[in-house]
Amino acid sequence: MTNEELLEKLAEDQGCDVMSMLEEATFDSIVPCICTECLATTDGEPDLREGYCDSCGNQTVRSCLDLAKII
Ligand SMILES: [Zn+2]
Repeated sequence: MTNEELLEKLAEDQGCDVMSMLEEATFDSIVPCICTECLATTDGEPDLREGYCDSCGNQTVRSCLDLAKII
C-alpha cells in the first residue's frame, strides 16, 4: 500500500478526511497511527515510525504525520 492509501484508510477509520485528520494531528501530542502490515489503527506519538503493533507483533506502526511526511 502507498502512504496515501494508508492515510485514507486511517482517515476513514477516524471518520474524517485526510486533510482534517492531518490538520488536527499537527496540534496534538497523540495522533492517529496505522500498522503498515495488518492495517490496525491506534494512537501514538506524532513522530512514530517503527511502533509496536499489538495486533500483528511487528514494529510497523507509523503515525499519520510520518506517512504524510509532515515530520
Ligand atoms: Zn500490525
